Amino acid sequence: MTEKTTTSLPPLRVAVIGAGPAGIYASDQLIRNGEREVLVDLFEQMPAPFGLIRYGVAPDHPRIKGIVKSLHNVLDKPQLRLLGNIEIGRDITVEQLRDYYDAVVFSTGAVRDRALNIKGVDLPESYGGADFVGFYDGNPRFDRDWDLSAKQVAVIGVGNVGLDVARILAKTADELKVTEIPDNVYESLKKNQATEVHVFGRRGPAQAKFTPHELKELDHSDNINVVVDPEDIDYDEASEQARRGSKSQDLVCQILEGYALREPKIAPHTLQIHLFEQPTEILEKDGHVVGLRTERTALDGNGGVTSTGRTTDWPVQAVYRAVGYRSEAIEGVPFDSQSNVIPNDGGRVLTAPGAQPVPGLYATGWIKRGPIGLIGNTKSDAKQTTDMLLADAAEGQLSPRLHEGPEAIVEFLEQRNIAYTTWEGWYRLDSQERALGQEEGRERKKIVDWEEMVSHARAIPVCI
Ligand SMILES: Cc1cc2nc3c(=O)[nH]c(=O)nc-3n(C[C@H](O)[C@H](O)[C@H](O)COP(=O)(O)OP(=O)(O)OC[C@H]3O[C@@H](n4cnc5c(N)ncnc54)[C@H](O)[C@@H]3O)c2cc1C
Repeated sequence: MTEKTTTSLPPLRVAVIGAGPAGIYASDQLIRNGEREVLVDLFEQMPAPFGLIRYGVAPDHPRIKGIVKSLHNVLDKPQLRLLGNIEIGRDITVEQLRDYYDAVVFSTGAVRDRALNIKGVDLPESYGGADFVGFYDGNPRFDRDWDLSAKQVAVIGVGNVGLDVARILAKTADELKVTEIPDNVYESLKKNQATEVHVFGRRGPAQAKFTPHELKELDHSDNINVVVDPEDIDYDEASEQARRGSKSQDLVCQILEGYALREPKIAPHTLQIHLFEQPTEILEKDGHVVGLRTERTALDGNGGVTSTGRTTDWPVQAVYRAVGYRSEAIEGVPFDSQSNVIPNDGGRVLTAPGAQPVPGLYATGWIKRGPIGLIGNTKSDAKQTTDMLLADAAEGQLSPRLHEGPEAIVEFLEQRNIAYTTWEGWYRLDSQERALGQEEGRERKKIVDWEEMVSHARAIPVCI
């Protein structure tokens, strides 16, 4: 059952909280460590694993969604047990959990929107980008219906999430029907009236946070004419330096220049990227969004921008704020509410930023370093955390668990009637989603209803 182990010490039992990429990579590294046998229970609040790969990565990015195939190999390992549909901090307290494990690793990621404080942000058609992502990616915790009656739409934020939101709004429902989107999402997207999508960022091309692949991909749809105003292409010495220092940033600049210089493409939908436009107010009439006011900025010579005082009002009927994700605190675990992460020193949880470690608690992924970076980054990050955990174990720094045996936690869950899901359950849910997709010639069609997901995972007859 174990891979290479070199000590005769009893196995370490570790709880990893959050079955997104960070939690799965951390589990894998713990199991494969080669020093000591480690048995991992991977807790997940959703009935299905994979975190933002399932509920963040856009449905028209099947290659990225396909990363789950390689994560399957990890979850298939006998030293790893998935316990889904359990929210740590609510269904089980961290204190209770610690009785069953020698160490706990938090990899709880981020799922909500970071706040944007501009006037009008609370208007009904001012939407959080993360909420829209949760809707179109079929996350049962988010709204099932979406008002897509706006013809002109603004997206605030020049990062990849902004591009995802803008692209989904600019594509047609039928272009997306080949993906895994659930029926309710397809039905809403069919009613989408948006013909103009405007993406706004306060800085210039050399500071935009897009990645080249995602920026280039916008142009792959025959339905989208991507536009950049040539006046929005500007560089100062610091910007030139940024281009020289990063091949990826240089490519982003080249792609934006290409969009700015070419002849317009004939397409029913326009997606315009506006640079050097700082959103300052969402405009309202009779309680509804009627526009977005931006202030023109200019490079300050150091790669930053200053305001010019020149404002423009853009007629739009909906605004999507894609200004970043935000992690949430877990009851019983220190949280730094300034930077919205668990305070930590390279992965060891601290009682407060810069303070003492809490023995036996660790963090990895977005909850450790904030909501930045791609799936691949969570792997190296997990290595740093798990190396620390194993070093602490070797030095006797962990407080040993009270309960022995893998069944103890299962008995605890069953005594409390917690309807937990398992890895075998994921196979059942997965095959059901695939079967639904195959009926329509698609690889998968997602099931959105929470109870339905649980019923398939637990092999309980589904009543709908
Ligand atoms: C909209 C969007 C699109 C993206 N697209 C791409 C892309 O195309 N390519 C790419 O490489 N990266 C992409 N990323 C980035 C990628 O998703 C992240 O780098 C990665 O998911 C972070 O991993 P994580 O495990 O730290 O967090 P998450 O993926 O958020 O996983 C955290 C898990 O913890 C669970 N959890 C949270 N709290 C609890 C609790 N109390 N108890 C139990 N479980 C809990 C959550 O349900 C979740 O499953 C995208 C991100 C977003 C937001």
